[in-house]
Amino acid sequence: MSCIVKVDASLIDSGVYADVVALLKSRSEAWFITQGWRDQLTEQAGYNKFISDPVHNPKYTHPSNSAHVGANFPDGKSRAVDITLVIAGKDDWDYTHPAWQALIAQINAHPRLHSGVWFADPDHIEKVHWQRDKGI
Ligand SMILES: [Zn+2]
Repeated sequence: MSCIVKVDASLIDSGVYADVVALLKSRSEAWFITQGWRDQLTEQAGYNKFISDPVHNPKYTHPSNSAHVGANFPDGKSRAVDITLVIAGKDDWDYTHPAWQALIAQINAHPRLHSGVWFADPDHIEKVHWQRDKGI
């Protein structure tokens, strides 16, 4: 149906971006890409908040372990995005919703994308084996 991009697509690995947009556009629901590239300070601040209260804060990791942080890659581009399902104009974070479940199944079957569902972050999509791109 639709994929609204709320981030700077030029800062996301072009292959990851193309795969995610194609996947979201193939669905019958509305999806937003809400996060892409991050700098180290933003990731660290999010991580500090997350570890202080993991139940109520979005999941972040240490900057050196994040596929969002461009500084981890020679080309400076993110290998991950975060998305949300939008129903009647509102974000829907109920991951038991059939649309979320179907999308996660599609990601799990995708040859180049990996779902954050495997580490309790279902709205996160990253490149398979993104760590191999670090090289710095
Ligand atoms: Zn993420």
